[in-house]
Amino acid sequence: MKSRRDFLQKISATALAVPFLSSAKAAGSSFYEEPYEGPVLKVAILGLGSYGTRVAEAMRDCKAAKLTGVISGTPSKIADWQKKYGIPAANCYNYENFDKIKDNKDIDAVYIITPNALHKDQAIRVARAGKHVICEKPMALNAKEGQEMVDACKKANVKLLVGYRMHFEANTLEIIRMRNAGELGKVMFFQGLSGFRIGDPGQWRLSKELAGGGALMDIGIYSVNGARYMVGEEPVWVTAQEVKTDPVKFKEGVDETITFQLGFPSGVIASCLSTYSMNYLDRFFLNGTQGFAELQPATGYGPIKGRTHKGELNLPHKTHQTVQMDEMSAIILQNKKPVVPVDGEEGVKDLRIMDAIYEAVRTGKKVELG
Ligand code: NAD
Repeated sequence: MKSRRDFLQKISATALAVPFLSSAKAAGSSFYEEPYEGPVLKVAILGLGSYGTRVAEAMRDCKAAKLTGVISGTPSKIADWQKKYGIPAANCYNYENFDKIKDNKDIDAVYIITPNALHKDQAIRVARAGKHVICEKPMALNAKEGQEMVDACKKANVKLLVGYRMHFEANTLEIIRMRNAGELGKVMFFQGLSGFRIGDPGQWRLSKELAGGGALMDIGIYSVNGARYMVGEEPVWVTAQEVKTDPVKFKEGVDETITFQLGFPSGVIASCLSTYSMNYLDRFFLNGTQGFAELQPATGYGPIKGRTHKGELNLPHKTHQTVQMDEMSAIILQNKKPVVPVDGEEGVKDLRIMDAIYEAVRTGKKVELG
């Protein structure tokens, strides 16, 4: 027979479970705290590799975005993903036939997560099929290619966004708020350190043809992009130096380590390092006349740790790709303006700087950015 004591025990177990569930949810899920009734972005992922898998897993917790389709050259992967994410056969495509998404009402946007050299042509095909494009970083191999993507998406009247997940990260946004509020005084200096030790020498990241370069294209881009959103200005000049300790692994055109400096209109300078030869290198540091802000790790999958002259930043970790995809849904479907842009023009700005860094390495000269 059920006693009152049993009943009370059940009640208190539930009472204990509820806060646990809600804090677990806060730690890992969507930024929408209220029940969501807005529009949902239907997304196909193109390229079912390691990052594509991470995005698909994170999208399980999205409220405003849903994985509805896949595009892949590997039939066995398509079958696996169909089972795992409940994707109907009608929403599965390969690299030859994916222009047919044009006629598929279950797909609003395609998220391109393939090696860098493939982004441009794939993005243009998606745009021509009338679907919005979300493209991984670097959006292309150089600024000229990036601009072609921007133009193609404009012409097709679709949006183009770049997978800059850090632009939605809470501690990063808090530092940007502090800077804008003048809490650091006048910003004077930024340091960006981005690197990891790359393994398998046969991977596409070490192929000039597929990656478009080396560490700078893959990981150094975080310091390029971070310098811009942490300082809040666009650089006007670049200097850079390259060091190569392993010319067998890092062939001609594949950079191992580059240091670069950026000058900004207000007089801020940035000093950055991009490398494929050091682990645990992921740090942003911003200094002003009245204070500092630091992120370390600054761009990893999280938690991101922040500290300023006022103390620790402890904004809770939420899976970056979940927040990113919910926010991107709002940008695409509801014209939301993010604090830090993630559009194609933003991607081209980074590529112009990266083109200039490579030119500065080649010529040994300071490169002016008009
Ligand atoms: P990956 O090698 O794990 O996956 C690449 C996918 O592309 C694979 O499924 C592969 O089969 C497919 N592919 C299609 N054509 C290919 C070809 N010609 N050569 C090789 N692979 C081909 O790579 P990844 O780590 O998933 O990176 C993919 C993209 O995502 C890159 O642009 C990378 O910079 C970006 N990325 C972004 C983040 C981020 O945090 N925003 C993290 C990792 C990777």
